[in-house]
Amino acid sequence: MEHRAPAFAFCPRDGARLVPTRIDGRDRPTCPVCGLADFLHVQIGANAIVEREDGVLLVRLNYGPRDGRWALPGGLVEADETPEQAAVRETEEETGFRVGLDGLLATWMRPGMPLIVVIYRAHVESGTLRVAPDEASEARFFPRAALPPLEDLAWPSTAHGLDAWRVYEPPRP
Ligand SMILES: [Zn+2]
Repeated sequence: MEHRAPAFAFCPRDGARLVPTRIDGRDRPTCPVCGLADFLHVQIGANAIVEREDGVLLVRLNYGPRDGRWALPGGLVEADETPEQAAVRETEEETGFRVGLDGLLATWMRPGMPLIVVIYRAHVESGTLRVAPDEASEARFFPRAALPPLEDLAWPSTAHGLDAWRVYEPPRP
């Protein structure tokens, strides 16, 4: 089964109707006015695996269809920031912790879904645990050996990030 994200019918820059044009082996909706070609457009999510001792920080969502499930701190990247900045900003908003990033851990994407999630390792630099009451009911550190079961995780990207963290080994000098 082929999954396809919906394509634009009109140019998001100038409103002209897009016409199929062969580029890179596929017919792609393309703007005859400005030349925009409709390749994949995605939203970017940025998440943090915040480590402390042998634990990882998870937040329990309290809204929407994922109510009650555990997620990594994070959210969508705004147009005026980098994924790194978004991961730091969202973690502070959701947990009260100011974190420092320790490098890219994993990325998650599923064909047909216009979203890529970028997951960083991170450590607490300052702050105290305090959840945003409109987003989460609680947040806490889970030991590596006692993570919530798969069905209690909010998103496929949460499971992917935790899997990557479980097997992560720091580079040897
Ligand atoms: Zn255009």
